[in-house]
Order: sequence, then structure tokens, then C-alpha cells
Amino acid sequence: MKEIFINDWIVQYDPDKTSQIYKKIERGYSGYCSCQICKHYSQYRNKYIPEDLGYLIEELGIDITKEAEVSFSGDKTIFQGYFTIFFHFIGSVKTHPNGWNICSAGEYFQYAKKCLIRISEVCEMQNPLFFGVNTLQISLLIYEGISSHDKISFY
Ligand SMILES: [Zn+2]
Repeated sequence: MKEIFINDWIVQYDPDKTSQIYKKIERGYSGYCSCQICKHYSQYRNKYIPEDLGYLIEELGIDITKEAEVSFSGDKTIFQGYFTIFFHFIGSVKTHPNGWNICSAGEYFQYAKKCLIRISEVCEMQNPLFFGVNTLQISLLIYEGISSHDKISFY
């Protein structure tokens, strides 16, 4: 297990085991869906995911092309709004300076330009390959053409 600070959290993670699981996953959510949002996202993924965040995702052992879900809220004709994307990885939260449980404090915070993230233990759309191991979810909220304040007000 390795340790990393993400915002105020100390997160323990196992990049080797996580990447082994990702190797068994054939493709991400957008690779199975032919809707306009998924097609657009999979084509422009590199444009949307900030470099800093890309490094973090890679460090956690996650294959960035194999997201567990993609959704979009806003104007789809010009993709002005925000994408919500999430991934799972093997890990657990060690501590927080205020002693909070991550579930109760699992709110989005600004991580990079135009990007908020959330770490939580509540896993949605969890791939069965992650069953039986401590799994965390990293949720990304990437916005385009709106401010993070606008995002928060209609999220
Ligand atoms: Zn779709």
C-alpha cells in the first residue's frame, strides 16, 4: 500500500492491484455506449481531463480510458456544462485532520482548473472485479463554459 495526500485526506492505495484489475476490464462505460455524450467524451477525453488530474489517476493505478460512468449536464449542442466521470480503485482513507468519516465529508473540492473531485467509499456502478476488496471511488466533475459556482448551484 502506498499513501498520498488528496486535499486533507491521507489515502492508502494499491496501484499494482488496481492496474491488474483494470487490465481485465475490456473498456470503459463510454466504450459501451453510443450516445452523443459518450462518443464526444471518448473522442475528447484528453482535452477534458486536466494534466494534473491525469497524473493522479495514473498514480492510483487507474486506466483513464476505462471509467465506470460518464454523464453530462448542460447544453449538449456545444458541450457547455459539466461532465461527471467516476473511477474505482483499491484503497482506503487513513485519516483526516478533523477526524471526519469520508462518507460524511465526501464533497467535491477544486482539484485542478475547471475540475472538482470527490473521494468516497460509496461506490456506484461497481465492477464485480472490485467486489471483496476495499474500494474507493474518485468522482470528477469537469466543467466547460461555466464557472464552478454555476456548477455548484445547479448540481
Ligand atoms: Zn452514453
